[in-house]
Amino acid sequence: QDFLREMSEKDNKIKSLVDMGFPEDEANMAITRCGVDAALTVLADSVYASQAAGDCHYGNLSDYEVTGSCFDSLGGRKRARLMEGSKKKRKRYGGAAQGNRRPLDGSHEEPMPLPNPMVGFNLPNDRLRSVTRRLPQQAIGPPFFYYENVALAPKGVWATISRFLYDIEPEFVDSKHLCAAARKRGYIHNLPIENRFPLLPLPPKTIFEAFPHYKKWWPSWDPRRQLNCLQTSMSSAKLTERIQCALASSGNPPPKSVQKYVMDECRKWNLVWVGKNKVAHLEPDEVEYLLGFPRDHTRGVGKTERFKSLGNSFQVDTVAYHLSVLKDMYPNGVNVLSLFTGIGGGEVALHRLGIHMRTVVSVEIGEVNRRILRGWWDQTQTGTLIEIADVKSLTDDRIATFVRRFGGFDLVIGGSPCNNLAGSNRHHRDGLEGEQSALFYHYFRIVDAVKSAMGRM
Ligand code: SAH
Repeated sequence: QDFLREMSEKDNKIKSLVDMGFPEDEANMAITRCGVDAALTVLADSVYASQAAGDCHYGNLSDYEVTGSCFDSLGGRKRARLMEGSKKKRKRYGGAAQGNRRPLDGSHEEPMPLPNPMVGFNLPNDRLRSVTRRLPQQAIGPPFFYYENVALAPKGVWATISRFLYDIEPEFVDSKHLCAAARKRGYIHNLPIENRFPLLPLPPKTIFEAFPHYKKWWPSWDPRRQLNCLQTSMSSAKLTERIQCALASSGNPPPKSVQKYVMDECRKWNLVWVGKNKVAHLEPDEVEYLLGFPRDHTRGVGKTERFKSLGNSFQVDTVAYHLSVLKDMYPNGVNVLSLFTGIGGGEVALHRLGIHMRTVVSVEIGEVNRRILRGWWDQTQTGTLIEIADVKSLTDDRIATFVRRFGGFDLVIGGSPCNNLAGSNRHHRDGLEGEQSALFYHYFRIVDAVKSAMGRM
């Protein structure tokens, strides 16, 4: 039975990795390297590591080829109605990126490889790697917009998102290049990419820089210097106990099999060493620190809620680096339409950049998240915060009214839910058409409505 369980677990993992766009043989190899119990994030990292080491080449990754056919798999009348207008847009925008011409019937496959290393268009103090880009014509012009989602999404997702968002090429960044925690995300935006600057002070880039006191108990066989993507849930006390038992009953250093078991769990849950043989999960205030939020930003709500909201949030230093170009453009402040606001990663980034927010219209369904944002806003801001619960209730008419009232929005920012895209939720990874992830289409609808309303001003 154990054997059968392991085999089916292995099959599931391979399937998930293949859905993310990794070739099957590499997924298989990663499982052999890391063990079948390793988390998907660990396996994905392992495939990346072997690719970086030159074990294979992206040129061969046919699974990264994405198809536009998912446009046609949409179900539901409501969706169909929303899509009606969008399909027209797709026609309008199809084929413009980088001057490529491609058929619009969805039959053509187009590559969208994830870059390795995942450093985006440029990084602070790394001018060497900087690229230049020319935005497609239809992407230019107010408002500026900034969209975020998980980089490792099932195949086709980013091509679809990009096509809806005026054919702009996504900027894929792993936050481990800017801070001590990995967070692989794609960003689609029409902001300039020259003359960006990072938030100061620069955040710590390693675990020991961030938390020097953990050095004391860190075993030499734990090679981690950065944390994995911070999760939306925390490890159980039972697990810490099991690890402690496994270590206590083996020698020092423990045998390779025990090391592997412990390291897999440590990577999966971002456990840190707090005593002899004793690991623990990070505390919420440590996660806040790693993500660039002020201390106690999420305090006052339950621990589970804090982990969930932090796990879904922006990494502030990363987003602020991209938004920094707005600072000189808007010396008198900005009007922001913040969609899927969460705990306000975008707002905190703007604030830390010293960009005044005259008005923020924030759309966030979670009551707890709205409470967190309101608390922070009242403590730190002088502008106006307008709160709306659901993107579905932000109709085009309401948008036009806001645009008239505030003279337009300077920035539309947001990352729609990734529940149906992210690897940890493999039972519901039905891609962009999943119930939550399809909210992306509202992001697109709203940006487009702002654009039209501002065009009429
Ligand atoms: N960028 C945010 C987090 C985005 S996660 C941050 O920095 O914190 C996606 C968010 O969308 C979640 O907070 C979720 O509660 C919210 N959400 C889900 N469905 C929504 C809807 N229908 N309308 C508005 N917000 C929604």
